[in-house]
Amino acid sequence: MSKLNNKVAVITGGNSGIGFGIAQEFENEGAVGAIVGRNQETLDSAVAQLGGNFIAINADVTNLADLERVFKETSEKFGNVDVVVANAGGGAIGTVSTLGETDFDKTIDLNLKSVYFTVHNALPYMNDGGSIILIGSNAAHRAYPNFSLYGAAKAAVIHFAKGFSSDLLERKIRANVITPGTTDTPAFEKFVPSEQIEGLKKHFASEMPIGRIGQPSDIGKTAVFLASDDSSFMIGAELLVDGGMTYLA
Ligand code: NDP
Repeated sequence: MSKLNNKVAVITGGNSGIGFGIAQEFENEGAVGAIVGRNQETLDSAVAQLGGNFIAINADVTNLADLERVFKETSEKFGNVDVVVANAGGGAIGTVSTLGETDFDKTIDLNLKSVYFTVHNALPYMNDGGSIILIGSNAAHRAYPNFSLYGAAKAAVIHFAKGFSSDLLERKIRANVITPGTTDTPAFEKFVPSEQIEGLKKHFASEMPIGRIGQPSDIGKTAVFLASDDSSFMIGAELLVDGGMTYLA
């Protein structure tokens, strides 16, 4: 039996990488709903691959009004929302010397403000008993050169899930975090020249205790678990899905 039969889901960043992997696993388990991003081409392509159960909503997750529209449109089309995945994120990499105010604002806006706005706007449109899943990063737990600002924003996201879960106890809405390690997504293209990507992935894989880097489906399957009743006793928790790289490498 499908684990998310007719559950209504909203996945930010569902048009790429981990978000698309989550949308695919949700769709396999019978969910319907919306994926959110800004690139219309990848939104259209993702929706086409999802087989008609998801709509694409072009919106900026750092914009409060855009997010209100996302939840309004989704609930008008499918009914109230059961599952929210705040996945859109990424960020400027650099040291505390090289990153300035603009990088600071962009990183915090995309990784923390967006998550706050997503949850804030989702709540009026959510069913009681729903599930909120935030996507963190193992950079929140361990020092990696050039990732301190991004890691700090993700650490705040992990705390946020615990904090606001206690605000929502009456509604039995559970919030939990998935913390990926290095995962094979188009995000690599933003940081390294295309001819170096395959070599870099091989290098990361060789350093992984589990012997490979993550795939979006690894995160997607974990998200299905957190979205479904299988995880009904989990609230304010964090699942590290990192092939062992954070604590075993
Ligand atoms: P991708 O670059 O593949 O995808 C990022 C997604 O976020 C895209 O769909 C993009 O859509 C969307 N997005 C970015 N900015 C905005 C915005 N302002 N408004 C709306 N949508 C936005 O990245 P990943 O799949 O790798 O990353 C997904 C999440 O996983 C992020 O939170 C990242 O920090 C986290 N993560 C990734 C790891 C990895 O190794 N890949 C490791 C640990 C955590 P569009 O371009 O259309 O705006």
